[in-house]
Amino acid sequence: MSKPVKDKEPHPDDLIPNDVRDPSTGIWYKKGKFMGKGGFARCYELTDQTTQKMFAGKIVPKTLLQKPHHRDKMTLEIQIHRDVRHQHIVGFHSYFEDKDFVYILLELCRNRSLMELQKRRKAITEMEARYFLKQIVEACVYLHNRNIIHRDLKLSNVFINSNMEIKVGDFGLATRIDFQGQKKKTLCGTPNYLAPEILMKKGHSFEVDTWSVGCIVYTLLVGHPPFETTKLADTYDKIKKNDYKIPDRLSNSAKHLIELMLKPNPLQRPTMRAILAHEFFTSGHLPSHLPTSCLTMAPRQV
Ligand code: ADP
Repeated sequence: MSKPVKDKEPHPDDLIPNDVRDPSTGIWYKKGKFMGKGGFARCYELTDQTTQKMFAGKIVPKTLLQKPHHRDKMTLEIQIHRDVRHQHIVGFHSYFEDKDFVYILLELCRNRSLMELQKRRKAITEMEARYFLKQIVEACVYLHNRNIIHRDLKLSNVFINSNMEIKVGDFGLATRIDFQGQKKKTLCGTPNYLAPEILMKKGHSFEVDTWSVGCIVYTLLVGHPPFETTKLADTYDKIKKNDYKIPDRLSNSAKHLIELMLKPNPLQRPTMRAILAHEFFTSGHLPSHLPTSCLTMAPRQV
C-alpha cells in the first residue's frame, strides 16, 4: 500500500499577494522582481499603481513575529528608520500590514550593495574607497548627531542606487542613546563586524560604528576582512588581540586611518566628524561621481 500523500504547508513567501493595498492611503502596489532575503524579510520591487513609482518592499510574514520580543524589535527598527532622513540613508517611505504580512516600503537601491561590488571586484582603488567612505561617514555623522547608533554597518547594509550614491540601510540592530555617556550593555543579534568592547561585554556606544566602518574600509582596500579566519572562535580571538595586518601597498594615509578606526580602546577611535577631516580625504582625488562600470571593473585612472 502506498503512503498517503501529506498536504505540504505552503511556504509563507508563496502567500505574498501580487497586488497589495495600503489601507491608510488606499494606494495599490504591484509586486515585481524578487530582490533578496534577510533574516526575516523578503524584498520585492513594489510599484505604486497610481504614480508608477517603484520601491523596495521589505515583506515580513507575521508567522515570524509571534514572539512579542520579535515584534518589539521590528517596531523599534521601523520607529528609528522612519524618523531619519538623509541623502545617504535609505529613504523610509511607509509601512502597513494586512492579515499575514508587514510591508515596509523603502527607497529602491538598484545597484545592490557594497557586498556584491566587493565580491566582484575584490580590492577597489583608494579613490573609489574615498568616494564610498565619505558618504557612509556623512550618514553616520547624521545618525550620531541624533543619538542613533547603527551597530551593524557592513558591506551588505550599504546600498548603492542607480546614480552610484551610497544609501546606508537596515536599522534592525540600531539603538538610541538616551543620555550623554550612556553605555549600552546588551545587543540582541550578531553584528557582522563585532567591536572588541561588544565581544567583551564592557558596554558600548557610538564608537562601535567607527570600528565597523574601519572594517568596511579595510575590506574594500585589502580584499578581505581584517580579522577573517575559518573559525568564528579564532576571529573573536584575533579581535580581542587586535591581531590584523595592513598590506604595504596601501598608502600611508589609508593605513593610518584604518589603524585609528580599529583602535582596541573605543575612546582612542576618531569620531565620525574627525574621520572626514583625516588626510585620507585630502591626500588624493575625491571624485564627485563614479560610473556604474565601477561595479564590475576598476576605473582607468587611479
Ligand atoms: P533583514 O532586515 O531581514 O535582514 P534586509 O534589510 O537585509 O532584511 O533586506 C533583505 C535583502 O533585501 C537585502 O539583502 C537586499 O538584497 C534587499 N534590500 C533591502 N533593502 C533594499 C533597498 N532599499 N533596495 C534594494 N534592495 C534592498
